[in-house]
Amino acid sequence: MAGNWKMYKNAEETSAFFEKFNPAVKGTAGREIVICPPFVNLPAAVAATRGSNVEIGGQNLYWEKEGAFTGEVSAPMLAAIGVRWVIIAHSERRQFFHETDETANKKIVAALAAGLKPIVCVGEMLADREGGNTETVLERQFKGGIAPLPADQFARIVVAYEPVWAIGTGKTATPQIAAEAHAFIRDQARSRFGHDAAQALRILYGGSVKPENAKELMAQEEIDGVLVGGASLKPDSFASIVNY
Ligand code: PEP
Repeated sequence: MAGNWKMYKNAEETSAFFEKFNPAVKGTAGREIVICPPFVNLPAAVAATRGSNVEIGGQNLYWEKEGAFTGEVSAPMLAAIGVRWVIIAHSERRQFFHETDETANKKIVAALAAGLKPIVCVGEMLADREGGNTETVLERQFKGGIAPLPADQFARIVVAYEPVWAIGTGKTATPQIAAEAHAFIRDQARSRFGHDAAQALRILYGGSVKPENAKELMAQEEIDGVLVGGASLKPDSFASIVNY
């Protein structure tokens, strides 16, 4: 159950969130809980979750370890401050910062080399869905970003299916639409990495997940977890999603 805070909250608001959130999800068994704040608030988030069952992720990274790359942050830098996860190729990164499947692949490899667990985002735009091209887009994103990984690296990633038309719009994919897309992604994984690896892959759904719809989404066998934007900003709403 992962929360993407995008460009919201300062350090003080970050600490205040965890004061309420940690007790609300304490003792939640069998669930991995991840929050991804903006870079500058990662230290505050790591400090506020030490000793809890909540882990912290970045929202992006750059694939080189260090160098003359003004404004970028590397995977080893994130790992060194206690960050455990990282979101890669979120649709906002693809749309506004021109990230591609090729850069997604480089970022996955860099994250894994530093011991970070990547949450790799894929998903179609509204025009793709309306034009009947959802599977073509998902296949292209899978083949470009994920399929080039060796099997041992593939085994360590999580995929998030996030239809772009459902992100921040209040329009959630129906559980059936989400499950169909997840099944298609799992088929891609099966063709490339085999049955067992595909079954073991965790696929999160993201796109206007709220406390009111988390349960029916999670009831789908194909949906292994959720990636939540807006509703992860409030401790009570994200806690009720985690405890669906
Ligand atoms: C996201 O940012 O990944 C996301 C799914 O946002 P929201 O839940 O606000 O649609």
